[in-house]
Amino acid sequence: MNTITTALQGIQEGIKRAVSRTNSVRAVTLVAVSKAQDVPEIRTAFMAGQRVFGENYLQEALQKQESLQDLQMEWHFIGPIQSNKTQAIANHFDWVQTVDRLKIAQRLNDARPENLPPLQVCIQVNVGGEESKSGIALHEVAELAQSITRLPRLRLRGLMTIPRPTENTVELRQQFKAMRACFDALNAQGYALDTLSMGMSDDYEIAIEEGATMVRVGSALFGARPAKSPQT
Ligand SMILES: *Cc1c(COP(=O)(O)O)cnc(C)c1O
Repeated sequence: MNTITTALQGIQEGIKRAVSRTNSVRAVTLVAVSKAQDVPEIRTAFMAGQRVFGENYLQEALQKQESLQDLQMEWHFIGPIQSNKTQAIANHFDWVQTVDRLKIAQRLNDARPENLPPLQVCIQVNVGGEESKSGIALHEVAELAQSITRLPRLRLRGLMTIPRPTENTVELRQQFKAMRACFDALNAQGYALDTLSMGMSDDYEIAIEEGATMVRVGSALFGARPAKSPQT
């Protein structure tokens, strides 16, 4: 068996183990983060059963999607969004996980083609309060969520975060717990959100223990990325 297939099985088992530790029967979706990976690697993951893929850079993603047109894949946009990219993103992705302002949500809504289902979106939260990071503060989530639900071509599915990096597991868990609390609070208000996207290669099991329903895994699946990704 090739390394990607072996790694995929290992991650699927890790996900199952983590879910079993929560004493719940939650379904957890694995997003294979294929940024900086080439088409043959993505094909290998697909052949091994992976269907959901995440990309950060628009131009890179569009090129790969073109070469992978023969496969039925679900594409998630997980990178920062500039206004001038919303048209292409709304046309070429099934999900956008990195919505962090109303202007972007509106542009995605307006550009979503009528022949496609509504764009599935998550609000990106900067849970660690890092100045350099995309995402909104937890206290701003409710207002943006309310605005997004008024946009007919978007469907709000939940929240996404990249926590502040830390070696301290307690501090990491606190960030995941804060996300979970916000997610639960929205649902208590009647939102029916089903997606809490948090956890990457190094911490996806912890994220699941803290309530993640979606994890985004790149290097643990495909191997280390080349040092530099094209920034497009
Ligand atoms: C790169 C990236 C990931 C995957 O990171 P790994 O550590 O390689 O698993 C997940 N989410 C986002 C938003 C990313 O940019």
